Amino acid sequence: MYSHRDRGGGSSKSELVGGPFDRKRLNDVLDKHLEKSSPSTSRGFNRKDKERSSVPSTSTGKSQLDHRDSRSAPLSKAKCDEESETDSEESDVSGSDGDDTSWISWFCNLRGNEFFCEVDDDYIQDDFNLCGLSSQVPYYGYALDLILDVESSHGDMFTEDQNELVESAAEMLYGLIHVRYILTSKGMSAMLEKYKNYDFGRCPRAFCCGQHCLPVGQSDIPRSSTVKVYCPKCEDIYYPRSKYQGNIDGAYFGTTFPHLFLMTYGHLMPQKPAQNYIPRVFGFKIHKP
Ligand SMILES: [Zn+2]
Repeated sequence: MYSHRDRGGGSSKSELVGGPFDRKRLNDVLDKHLEKSSPSTSRGFNRKDKERSSVPSTSTGKSQLDHRDSRSAPLSKAKCDEESETDSEESDVSGSDGDDTSWISWFCNLRGNEFFCEVDDDYIQDDFNLCGLSSQVPYYGYALDLILDVESSHGDMFTEDQNELVESAAEMLYGLIHVRYILTSKGMSAMLEKYKNYDFGRCPRAFCCGQHCLPVGQSDIPRSSTVKVYCPKCEDIYYPRSKYQGNIDGAYFGTTFPHLFLMTYGHLMPQKPAQNYIPRVFGFKIHKP
């Protein structure tokens, strides 16, 4: 079966907050798949399934999991620099054992996925909110079952490749639900908590004095560009500090979110920076022709 619990054999926290599965490889696989077939045929791999059913499917991800632990060191160090950033996340994780963790919490706690908030089950279960997504995401039905932790009898029939495709599709589906959810009042307040918690990092510009940033996409079309962070003070965008975060699709956050967020929570809009950097040579300003 393709449940995430297979990946998380143990339930220690380092695994829960560990690195994501190999996102680039999965995206490559998904790209290949998307080239080959249109999304509307996404349910049509049962035939293929029978041909390849000799491959055991339960080992997916275990080997990828094993090197996750080693990756957690640099980030936890970086996180210590930033006040009590992980407090709320940690309490969420410690409250439940690994096996009871929903796919959504597991996914949001993966290394690099810190920008995602947890989308309410209720929101995902309302078909109206998913309108149009079934034609964009391959293996839509399986991906949705995976996200909602619905046990699927088909899972045991999947090959390793198919499991990876479903995992990858689930990530994409979650992202496309997420970009909608964070524009709702509930989603926005979930993102507010993360914003206050410095989950999106701070502006690297010295004169912005550690201003909190917000995630933003440069395009609303999936697979166009990776997520950036927007600084409301200097009104510019930057690459996220973590390279794991830098691999995430910007369309899972969208072009609207930070601006609607700041319109909604107007009191968070910072003052414009009072200073600008002036280059000097031996103390003299550089003459500009
Ligand atoms: Zn800034």
